[in-house]
Amino acid sequence: MIKVDPNLCKGCDLCIETCPEHVYDKSSKLNKKGVYLPCPKREKDCTKCHLCELMCPDQAISVTEDEEDDQVDNINDDEKSDQTDNATDEKTLKETTDV
Ligand code: SF4
Ligand code: SF4
Repeated sequence: MIKVDPNLCKGCDLCIETCPEHVYDKSSKLNKKGVYLPCPKREKDCTKCHLCELMCPDQAISVTEDEEDDQVDNINDDEKSDQTDNATDEKTLKETTDV
């Protein structure tokens, strides 16, 4: 997955120019700095070489493996599950003390 942080990007276009697979296009989306953001339009062509990530002078790009994304999703799912468990425990405790 490719993410471009709109708050960090300064619109220098280095990522567009250096990507060997021509994944990026200039988008028509402006950020707060008033620059047009790059858009990873052809993300399916990305080879995960990380060149754009390394070239970006403002560390605005993050390229992650799909497996890493799955792991993050799993961690989030675990956290959600823990939160649900805690809420259930609190409810059970309240019901017990209310009686
Ligand atoms: S990781 Fe490589 S192939 Fe993918 S968008 Fe960046 S420069 Fe292009
Ligand atoms: S290299 Fe970084 S700062 Fe430059 S346009 Fe790309 S994302 Fe924005």
